[in-house]
Amino acid sequence: MVPVSLPPADPRRPLGDERWPSAVFDAGCKLCPRLAAHLAAMRAAHPGYYNLPVPPFGDRAAQLVIVGLAPGAHGANRTGRPFTGDHAGVLLYEALFSAGLSARPKSVAAADGLELRNCRITNAVKCLPPANKPETAEADTCNRYLAAEFRLLPRPRVVLALGAIAHRSVLRALGVKPGRYPFAHGAVHRVPGAPVVVDSYHCSRYNTQTRRLTAQMFADVLATARALASETR
Ligand code: SF4
Repeated sequence: MVPVSLPPADPRRPLGDERWPSAVFDAGCKLCPRLAAHLAAMRAAHPGYYNLPVPPFGDRAAQLVIVGLAPGAHGANRTGRPFTGDHAGVLLYEALFSAGLSARPKSVAAADGLELRNCRITNAVKCLPPANKPETAEADTCNRYLAAEFRLLPRPRVVLALGAIAHRSVLRALGVKPGRYPFAHGAVHRVPGAPVVVDSYHCSRYNTQTRRLTAQMFADVLATARALASETR
């Protein structure tokens, strides 16, 4: 395991404007050829979009870390901040605000001044995948960044995985075989020597419009994660 370190910074300062060691995030990464090609095509089609790997966002000292799947084409890939500017982010940030984890209920742009409180959001795959579907090999390639982030963060107690792919990536980044802890909405996985892993269906437009995931279901799982993060160890 390669140790990583960050330059000195206020641990409560929101991330997004800080310099990252390349082990944690690399805006120039092109390790996944298919995703790099897709971003190049997006740059041609949407030159005003961010169109790069999207960095983590939020409190560096957070006890709760939320891991999504990948940037949305016209959300995070457009704005450069996870879950910002598209449908999935509407439910997420409203729920975070209701739970006291976000200063505001809406996340509209990377420069909107929004701050997360004791919460941090990152993605299992940092680059926009075609059709919002990363391949397994791409998630595995990008896992080096998520693993480095987990090694870096000083006090995460709970990781909330949004969807089965994020769940698998979280466990892999924590050095755990995913088969030992199967994904299920609302499941709480107490992994020895690691943060507690909580699962939720992803707050995607498809899942919310089909009511596979309702706002109440998501609020409940977020409340569970928040309560676990506040537990004294
Ligand atoms: S998905 Fe991750 S590993 Fe793949 S090119 Fe993007 S940043 Fe690099």
